Amino acid sequence: DSKEFVPPVYRGLEQYRLVSKLGDGAFSNVFKAIHLRTNQTFAIKAVRKFELTQAQKASVLKEAQIMRSMDHPSIVKLYDFVETKEHYFLILENCQGGELFHRIVRLTYFSEDLTRHCIQQVAEAIRYLHEEKGIVHRDIKPENLLFEPIPFLDRPVDIGLSQAGEYDEQKEDEGRFVPGLGGGGIGRVKLADFGLSKVIWDQETMTPCGTVGYTAPEIVRDERYSKSVDMWALGCVLYTMLCGFPPFYDEDTKILTEKVARGQYTFLSPWWDSISADAKDLVSHLLCMDPTRRYTIGQFMQHTWMTSDCATPVVSF
Ligand code: ADP
Ligand code: MG
Repeated sequence: DSKEFVPPVYRGLEQYRLVSKLGDGAFSNVFKAIHLRTNQTFAIKAVRKFELTQAQKASVLKEAQIMRSMDHPSIVKLYDFVETKEHYFLILENCQGGELFHRIVRLTYFSEDLTRHCIQQVAEAIRYLHEEKGIVHRDIKPENLLFEPIPFLDRPVDIGLSQAGEYDEQKEDEGRFVPGLGGGGIGRVKLADFGLSKVIWDQETMTPCGTVGYTAPEIVRDERYSKSVDMWALGCVLYTMLCGFPPFYDEDTKILTEKVARGQYTFLSPWWDSISADAKDLVSHLLCMDPTRRYTIGQFMQHTWMTSDCATPVVSF
């Protein structure tokens, strides 16, 4: 851990020692922390209350409530929730392997086997949310997909992530972390950040919001809250992992919004030339404009590209 890190002092976190910063969010800072009594390592998301509206405060409480009801190896665990006058603290499972985003930046793109290995775990998380919990995540993206600490390292830290959460190429080049097939392993991938997640209206699963019988169809159907939004996002993540750039991009948000609205993307040559037809077929069933025709998580997991075996063992020590 960096010598320069000056841990902030938070009232309410006296039982922890803050060790380093893991990341930043809009209204939050995420720290690696050690629980003094048990010596256990956690990630603590500290949310500043004074910047939040009442509605935003309510959504943090909901984020915590939703996370607390989760129990899945591919979903970041919430161990505790502390509220003080100034902050909310989410005491989370430490995923110190960093963001999938940084892995893509570093590796340029993933092999199909490595992509499958990672995306299978993400799909397990989504299946659990959609089919068992009736929850849509609504913010699936590489920044919210985190790797657990790399198991083969005896030291718990130092995998090439500097304090600011930026990638330190030198550390990786020293061979301390070589992601990829057979290269020393890549930890489990976990879905994080339930800040936008919602319990959905859904007759197939439970209906925790009460009676749906009197609810107007446009509300029940509200597409912003439907499972298909996660499947579109999963398609974007899959596309990006395979080729190293996202399906829709423009520096100008307005133009980007138009591109997304048209839903037009291409398998750009030469980057997509050597990628299998099966992979392209799967992407196209996710980046499908019509949400009713878009693959569900069940269909996704049964696609041939997903069920085909990796020739090489993914992790070897
Ligand atoms: P926001 O809602 O503001 O996006 P996130 O929950 O996504 O906040 O956290 C912001 C960043 O902090 C993440 O992108 C990640 O880099 C880091 N982070 C969050 N949770 C963890 C965790 N459990 N372990 C390690 N790093 C984390
Ligand atoms: Mg986030």
